[in-house]
Amino acid sequence: MAEEKPKPPPWVWDHLSDEMFNESWRRFAAWVSWLEEAYAPWVVLPDCWPAHEGLRSELIVFWYWHRWLMSRAVNPVDGVRWHADLRRAANDWRELAGCTHQPPVRHHEQLADHRRARTQHFVTAMLRGKIAESDRR
Ligand SMILES: [Zn+2]
Repeated sequence: MAEEKPKPPPWVWDHLSDEMFNESWRRFAAWVSWLEEAYAPWVVLPDCWPAHEGLRSELIVFWYWHRWLMSRAVNPVDGVRWHADLRRAANDWRELAGCTHQPPVRHHEQLADHRRARTQHFVTAMLRGKIAESDRR
């Protein structure tokens, strides 16, 4: 018997149909709007929050966590934990609050490419055990 592929968690939407994906996004964006309003001034997000993958991914997890709290949680400690973690995350999200979301200039892309290539060089060398002792700091 073939082994069943594990189901992705509900907050991973790669496998959804276009219709389900769009509906999930619509509901998620509505929840984020509610979050910004209900938890102001703690939660301050830039208008471009959907374009920030890390922020978007974290918000989706908070959304699912909140849905679980509102439907299946039985211990109030879970609610306290959600709020404490939300405030802590919201504090980190403030770094992005003033984002004007300018497209990256070519110079930045070149620097990022150079950095990725350099990191890959070190990863490859580490995998081959070829990093000289003098490079291990
Ligand atoms: Zn932005």
